[in-house]
Order: sequence, then structure tokens, then C-alpha cells
Amino acid sequence: MLFVSTRGKSPAISASEAILQGLAPDGGLYVPEYFPHIALEKLASVTSYPELAYEVLAPFFVDDELESELAEICVEAFDFPVPLHWHDGKDSVLELYWGPTAAFKDFGARFLAASMERLLKHRNRKLTILVATSGDTGGAVAAAFHKRPGIDVKVLFPEGKVSKRQQQQLTCWADNVDAYAVDGVFDDCQRMVKQAFMDPALVAEHGLSSANSINLGRLLPQMVYAFHASLEVLARTGNEPVMVIPSGNVGNSCGSYWAKVMGAPISRIVLALNANRTILDYLESGTYEKRSSRATLANAMDVGDPSNMERLTHLFGDFEQFSAEVSAFSVDDATITDTIRHVWEKHSYIVCPHTATGEFVRTSLDLPEPTVVYATAHPAKFDTVVEPVIGETVPVPPQLAELLDKPSAYKSIPPDHTLLFS
Ligand SMILES: *Cc1c(COP(=O)(O)O)cnc(C)c1O
Repeated sequence: MLFVSTRGKSPAISASEAILQGLAPDGGLYVPEYFPHIALEKLASVTSYPELAYEVLAPFFVDDELESELAEICVEAFDFPVPLHWHDGKDSVLELYWGPTAAFKDFGARFLAASMERLLKHRNRKLTILVATSGDTGGAVAAAFHKRPGIDVKVLFPEGKVSKRQQQQLTCWADNVDAYAVDGVFDDCQRMVKQAFMDPALVAEHGLSSANSINLGRLLPQMVYAFHASLEVLARTGNEPVMVIPSGNVGNSCGSYWAKVMGAPISRIVLALNANRTILDYLESGTYEKRSSRATLANAMDVGDPSNMERLTHLFGDFEQFSAEVSAFSVDDATITDTIRHVWEKHSYIVCPHTATGEFVRTSLDLPEPTVVYATAHPAKFDTVVEPVIGETVPVPPQLAELLDKPSAYKSIPPDHTLLFS
């Protein structure tokens, strides 16, 4: 199987090469040359999540240098539960937050890290990963690459602009992970990373790489839980579910559309957006216009120009097809708060602000049953938003408690990229 650029002007390459490259040389994103169809009977005998992951991902690694290691990569990366919580017999929540940093980013980051470690070992190469973060990505990447031989990680975050618990997840690692609190905003962090990449001497000396959400190695594993959940719902209810996905850079939803194309039993996919409604505006006007991002309570979805949009438009070809397959709804902050309260009162179940956008979309639209909302983060990560609304303390899950107990260390620096390497 080979992968091509969404912009069509780069050579087709293997999954492993695409994982090492990140962005294609023509500036596009790597997508599979075609989508293999998976027979559901083949998945019926699968007994564990890593086995399911192997079955779904194996067609993409045929003749790839990681082909023989894919099964062990899946066992290593997906070593936590992926439960479906049922509100009742028709509505469920896919809890994607039982990984080490309590958000769905762990799936992609752990698969990418397990793959990259092996690819570097094959080449006897070392690498430094730079990641600018305003929330969940930096923690998931730091956790996934922590203590991996041959790989250093530098995490940059805007000083004083991330929550206490988020900061702890960025700064508790030590060993091969360095954290930098930058005197500036998120855009300064991102600019420093870009400047480092544009410095040929730094790139050559440190083997710089990025682990951002456009990397194919983060997207492929995000197909697996769409199969996992839709198969379970089909088995339990006899019907194919509608998937409601809280979305920002639309990587999570892109993975689910890919799964649907491959034959996952999904009747429809609906995107839940916060006040950043670029995709909804596109659906309404037919013209794509990027916007600057707006700060909301669901901050991991504060994206004005979703980076994986290019993969979705490539998948659907034209606007007509795009608008036939994609629906999106925008949920404001007041509604997010109301929904957290409402779900708590009705189901005694606590959702994070991102998941709340999905819960609102599920209840306010007349969706055919059954429905699955993706829970993208554990509510304990957003205790300062959630606890005042429900009037209760959110229990901290064990994996998060472990991180919160670790000592924290970071360097405070002005926004100058050369200081990352001194
Ligand atoms: C990253 C993130 C999202 C958005 O996911 P995309 O793949 O960027 O659409 C939603 N919720 C949480 C908690 C996240 O961390």
C-alpha cells in the first residue's frame, strides 16, 4: 500500500516513510492511495482491542518495513481499555480517555511513538521532536515518547496560559522530555518551532521532527475505535449507529470517515463544533474561509482553520459530496455549561466541555437511533469548568492521579528558538 499527497505533486511513498516525513514535500497531507474494504466477518473473531487494531491497520502496512512489527506495535500502543458507556439502550458514549494523559490524543501519539522508535532503530538514527502546545497534544506526545531510546522531546507552552493540570502534564516527565514555558502566547511557541525547522544547521544537528496532528501515524490509529464502537453497537442493538464527534482539527472525525469508507457499520457521522464554526460556514456557503480561532470552554477545539480539512475535502472530491456526507453543528459556551449540568442531572454522568458539545448535538437533533458520542477527554482534566457546574468533585482517574503527583520542572524562556538548544 502506498500513500499520496492531497495536493498530488509528491511521489507516492510507504506508510513508514510518510510517518517519518510528516508533511508531504508539496505541502499536502498523506492519504492512502485507496481504501481497502474490510469484511466484517473477519473482525467477528477478534477478542481484544490490539487485535482489532491489527486487523484494521494491516492492509495499510502490506509490504511496509513495519509490517512484521505491526502486531506488537498495536499491543504496546493500545494497552488501556476503550469502554462504551450506555446512558440507556440506544445512546452511548465512547470513552476515549483511559490512556496515560486522559484524552483521545493518546491513541495517535502512542502509535506514532511506537512506530517511530522502530523506524529510527532500523536506521540507527536519533531524533528531536518539537511540539508547541496549548492543551492536550503536548502532554500526550510527551507521555508517548517518554524514555524512548534515540528520541528527545521539547515541549513549548505559553507561560501562564494553560491550566494547572495541563501544565503538570507537560512538565512532569524529565529524562528525555524538556518543557519550556515561553514568555508569550501559543502563536509565539508555534513560530519558534517553525523557525527551528527553517534553520538547516539545527535540523542537521538534532534531526528535528514534529508530531503534530497531520502526521499519518496519528491519524491511522484513530480509525480503529470507530470500528470498535460501531461493531459493539450493531451487535447490541441490531442497527448501525450515528457517530457524533466533538471536532477541532477534524483528525478524529477524518479517522472515522476513513473507517466508514472501509466498511465500519456507521450510518452517519456528525461533527459537533464549539463557537469556531469554520466548517459549518463552509457547509452553509459552499466557500471555505479560514478564520482566526476564538477561545471557548472546549479549548482543544479552538481551531479556525482545521488542519485535516484538506484530507476530508480530498476524500469527498467536491462540495456536493462533502455536504452530502458531512453535517456540523456549533455549540456556544453557555450551552456547553448547560449540557454538562443536564447530562449530570439526567444520567449521573460527568462529561468534559468537549464531550458536552457532542451530547448537546445528540439531544437537540432528531438523529436516528442508536447514537454514539465520542468522549474526547476525561472531565477531571477540566475540573475548574466542570466542578462548579455540577457542584461535585470530579474523581481523578488513577492514570491522571499518578501524573499529578510527580515533581514538575521546566525552563522559563523568552520567545527565542535558539534558547531551546543552548
Ligand atoms: C484534540 C481534541 C479535540 C479535537 O479533535 P480533532 O481531531 O482536532 O478534531 C476534541 N476534544 C479534545 C479533548 C481534544 O484534545
